[in-house]
Amino acid sequence: MNEYAELLNHELSRADVRTLAAALRAGDLSSFELTQHFLKRIEQQQSRLNTFITIDVEGALAAAKSADIKIRNGEAQPLTGIPWVCKDVFCTSGLRTTCGSRMLSGFVAPYESTATSRIRASGAVMLGKTNMDEFAMGSSNENSFFGPVANPWDLSRVPGGSSGGSAAAVAAGQAPLATGTDTGGSIRQPASFCGVVGLKPTYGRVSRYGMIAFASSLDQGGVFARSVEDCSTLFATMAGFDPLDSTSAAREDDWLDALRNGVPPSSPSPLRLGMPRQYFNGLRGDAEECLEAARKTLESLGHTVTEVDLPHSRPAIPAYYVISGAEASANLSRFDGVRYGRRAEDAVDLRTLYVQSRTDGFGTEVKRRILTGTYALSVGYYEAYYQKAQRIRRLIQQDFLTAFADVDVLLAPTTPGPAFRREELTHDPVAMYQQDIYTTPVSLAGLPAMTLPCGFIEGLPYGMQLIAPHFREDLLLSLGVHFQQSTDWHRQTADAAVLS
Ligand code: GLN
Repeated sequence: MNEYAELLNHELSRADVRTLAAALRAGDLSSFELTQHFLKRIEQQQSRLNTFITIDVEGALAAAKSADIKIRNGEAQPLTGIPWVCKDVFCTSGLRTTCGSRMLSGFVAPYESTATSRIRASGAVMLGKTNMDEFAMGSSNENSFFGPVANPWDLSRVPGGSSGGSAAAVAAGQAPLATGTDTGGSIRQPASFCGVVGLKPTYGRVSRYGMIAFASSLDQGGVFARSVEDCSTLFATMAGFDPLDSTSAAREDDWLDALRNGVPPSSPSPLRLGMPRQYFNGLRGDAEECLEAARKTLESLGHTVTEVDLPHSRPAIPAYYVISGAEASANLSRFDGVRYGRRAEDAVDLRTLYVQSRTDGFGTEVKRRILTGTYALSVGYYEAYYQKAQRIRRLIQQDFLTAFADVDVLLAPTTPGPAFRREELTHDPVAMYQQDIYTTPVSLAGLPAMTLPCGFIEGLPYGMQLIAPHFREDLLLSLGVHFQQSTDWHRQTADAAVLS
């Protein structure tokens, strides 16, 4: 690549959505060209990063052509012609959806998820389906049937999980926008590890229809982007009531509609922020320094910060793993090789067909969750595990509600540290689960939270977590935009590692 071409490549890959949309409307660039640019970059990087399970060249170019027509006719919406990538957990009609599993390696859904159909209707151009931990179970993307994803900042490290492909794709400049899902941290943790913004909305804000289920009382679709502003447009496009999801929230907010129309989040009036004391006890020093610097920045912007208590945080991980495992064991029972999923060959009777299809189709971690989940629900253990976990869940929810009586938003770590090395934790599932210490309580409470870059630890990005009361994503977005106006952590790029 000559110097000029490299510069152009860099600029297009790093441009924000507003700049790209303006270039498209002005006719400086067509969506077709933009799409080709990103597809080329994806293909160049795929062998190193493995961010994709399916790259949809044909579908993307066709969508780009129709976006160009809309733009020429003056019918463009804010995302028309803008490329995005989709976690392979959302069903896409006619295009394979694997959920990172051998079980679904040949599955083509006959229908489209609500979230993706809304994004497609906005005219955005989907480039492909991103890699993920199998059935969204994992914190490192090492549980994918399609192989691990590399972290663009350091190829020997994990990108986080389970939405590791989406986070790494955005960090590597393969697309400005991506979807993810978060059950216990799967958007926020990879966002922290890859140095991008990740928003997990309130439970019920984004429809779960057509999103392959892991733990139905926790699963929530959300977004990745490099800036909070970019995040806000895609989030608003996906969000909103859906009669096809029984737990979808029947609630519309005016600000959602404004965001959908491309109005940026407004600057917040001074907010009261709370730092949960329990989240900082034992946090490593360099992570604490990053958060301390973020606190100072936020104070200098006029916000006040106090300490708050979340006394029941400690049992969040066991409660989360009992509840999510129990729900997973029920949800995954549908993959029997008969109605859904890969069918074992040579099975001589029905029982062998079930056993063999599930034995071959699921990976080790998924089997571990099914077994522990089934155990927690079994007669005699139900009260000791499942019911107890539900009681802890209620106490955790109550802690947050109490804290939100005094503060507007919580400022917390997302992860105990920066991205760890590949295979560092694979031998020890419990150590892997402990990565989720700061994200699972928020999931159990159904709250919205956003991770955004706030510093570097040993040359690796590190993200802070902002947590808001139910349905107050507007507070997170406004505060996030405010923070990013006076910091440039989100403008640092991982190019060096990826392009060399
Ligand atoms: N790491 C957590 C788990 O493995 C979270 C996964 C998720 O949010 N999908 O369950």
